[in-house]
Amino acid sequence: MGEEPPEEVAMSHEERALPKPPRSRARRGYPPLVTDPRTRLSDEADAIRKAHNEIQLRKLNERIEEHHLRVQPAVAEWVCECADETCALPVGLTIAEYEAVRAEPTHFFVAPSDEHVDTDIEYVVRREPDYWIIAKKGVGAEMSRREQTPRRT
Ligand SMILES: [Zn+2]
Repeated sequence: MGEEPPEEVAMSHEERALPKPPRSRARRGYPPLVTDPRTRLSDEADAIRKAHNEIQLRKLNERIEEHHLRVQPAVAEWVCECADETCALPVGLTIAEYEAVRAEPTHFFVAPSDEHVDTDIEYVVRREPDYWIIAKKGVGAEMSRREQTPRRT
């Protein structure tokens, strides 16, 4: 009798869309994590780029400090100094806390969350409720020491 299956039954399961992978890291602009020694050179270039970003944010916060020193707020608002070029989260520190971080050339402060720590180039030295202090390592630490401007006395 020539019976044919209805069109829709012939469609295979492969036609369905695959679930999308989590894209949080990609969205935040991080490269994939790599440990292959062959990638060392690009890792170093990456570390230099990220250190440069953090140093630029440090310079921005120095300008912000000039304003805070005039106004003298109890807790002042700064800009997160993490390596993520797209991050500009406000971070609250007193001026004294800010000065304490700045006293160490390789130390930076970031918003209090793992998202603001790139463990390839830095590590957490202190966790406060409102901010974390990170220390640069390797080439980023060298760059930070070179860029350090003398503190006012
Ligand atoms: Zn950040």
